[in-house]
Amino acid sequence: MLRTSSKILRPIREKVEAGERLNLDDGVLLYSNDVPLPELGELANLVRERKNGNFAYYNINTHLNPTNICVYRCTFCAFRSDLRDAKGYAMSDEQILARGQEAVSAGSTEMHIVGGLHHQAKYEWYRNVVSLLHENFPTLHLKAWTPVEIDWFARQTGKSIRWVLEDMMDAGLGSCTGGGAEIFHPEVRDQICEHKADSSRWFESHRTAHELGLRSNCTMLYGHIEKPYHRIDHLIRLRELQDASLQKGWGGFQTFIPLAFHPENTGLSHITKPSGPMDLRTMAISRLMLDNVPHMKAYWIMLGVGTAQIALSYGADDIDGTVRHELIYHDAGAETPEVLSVEKIRRVIEEAGREPVERDTLYRRVERDESGWRVGEAIAVGG
Ligand code: SF4
Repeated sequence: MLRTSSKILRPIREKVEAGERLNLDDGVLLYSNDVPLPELGELANLVRERKNGNFAYYNINTHLNPTNICVYRCTFCAFRSDLRDAKGYAMSDEQILARGQEAVSAGSTEMHIVGGLHHQAKYEWYRNVVSLLHENFPTLHLKAWTPVEIDWFARQTGKSIRWVLEDMMDAGLGSCTGGGAEIFHPEVRDQICEHKADSSRWFESHRTAHELGLRSNCTMLYGHIEKPYHRIDHLIRLRELQDASLQKGWGGFQTFIPLAFHPENTGLSHITKPSGPMDLRTMAISRLMLDNVPHMKAYWIMLGVGTAQIALSYGADDIDGTVRHELIYHDAGAETPEVLSVEKIRRVIEEAGREPVERDTLYRRVERDESGWRVGEAIAVGG
């Protein structure tokens, strides 16, 4: 039972306490400034602790963005480059292998791989990124490609999304990232990224991944031109796919990551980036709306360490990883460090009053000793 209850929140609080699902109107109402943020956070924390107790998860991971050259021009993107720009790059096999070696030497359990859609690189070049890493560093879980990339590979090869995913799995793909979702509603999507994979292709990619036994994450880019209605519509679409995947006995989404828009060096640089209270409100609402997704991530790279710590009491149960070589948000002005040590990330979690748990990509406990690391049992707390 919660301690506080303002009148405006009471009907929603009663639903959440009874385990009932919130609807679109409920979600939009929660974005009203008349709903007190601490009380909203308290409600989200109720769900967070039901599902994950006092645990806060992290992993030891490394990022790899094989190229920043991209045929698309999403207005919110500071990472992309044209083919002949001085900042454009495409990594060689040697550079990719060196990144893999660095990851393994740092104890990483996961490589997170996303990038641009290079005008001239063929599908085989992207496949080689995965197979090269998998063959040389088989202990690294390769969480790779957004549905935008999977859609691009399908167009390049003239094959289906299913074919691309199966072929990437043969190469060593371990799970799918949740990027490229932005905002699904066409009123927004058509203005910020009209050319790339639309929402139906995004969902086809994740639905097929789930069917093939791959786990995946999901995201939402907020704080640009979208309105509360678009955000809640976005969350409900994700919830519907998760319902369908779970009903079929597929694994579905593991984690939702609300991504705060960073305007610097983008085509939307006139927009002020979301405030801390907006970040916390969005985290809390996401936790309440996505009642069938087990984990919520406070991605410290985007939120900043301080806000991510507070978010652990506003619905989030995961803080992402140590992270190395993050480029996408640092190109857009993120002022967070480029990497956190394991000691630091555990301290960040403990300062927030939570119990740190190292997980692998599939949310199994990681056990470490002098001889290395191994995967333990699956983490399970609540429903
Ligand atoms: S967000 Fe992705 S697809 Fe869009 S321009 Fe940036 S790299 Fe390209």
